[in-house]
Amino acid sequence: MEISRSSENTWLDVSAPVHSGMQHWPGEPEVLIDRIADMGKGNVANVSVLSMSAHTGTHMDAPRHFFKEGKDISLVPFEVLIGPALLIEVKNPQRVDLSDLMDYDLRPESRVLLKTANSEKEWFNMDFSKSYTGLSASAAKYLAERKVRLVGIDFLSIGTYEEDEEVHRVLLGSGIWIIEGLYLKGIPEGIYDMICLPLRLIGSDGAPARAVLRKI
Ligand SMILES: [Zn+2]
Repeated sequence: MEISRSSENTWLDVSAPVHSGMQHWPGEPEVLIDRIADMGKGNVANVSVLSMSAHTGTHMDAPRHFFKEGKDISLVPFEVLIGPALLIEVKNPQRVDLSDLMDYDLRPESRVLLKTANSEKEWFNMDFSKSYTGLSASAAKYLAERKVRLVGIDFLSIGTYEEDEEVHRVLLGSGIWIIEGLYLKGIPEGIYDMICLPLRLIGSDGAPARAVLRKI
């Protein structure tokens, strides 16, 4: 995917392109975009049918993902999805640790996007590996203490493989909405206007989303 370099007033697409056979979380089915009617084969229109997890490519997690009675993704407020976001470039390739976040002024209600080593490669076109860069549980607790409203990261899951469940429970249990599967290559650290709109899937634990940034 080509991302244009930032220039003022230009919206940058930070969503992973969704296509058949792209990387998915282990245990979830293959992503399939199947053209069931094809003009090339004499049909009057092209029609595609989608088969994928709600946690495919760039997507959001709702509290329902880890809490039985938690809010579903259709209930995420627009106030969370639209507004300024701080993009932090994390140098630590192992994980996003507490020490990687301490120097930033993280205010209540803020939106935080974490750009990690994952974005150096087109991760969505690769096979799954447990060695992706994720958030540590201690860093997740710190974000919850700071009362941020939204956290985004550039991989299919937000927590490290080892602490993934705990990280989700800490964030979602604190009312923090999560964006996963961003692609942030070429986007420098800074403050951006953000729009991220997940599909209005009733009752769902998550939904695919389109996310765009614009330098403020
Ligand atoms: Zn998740």
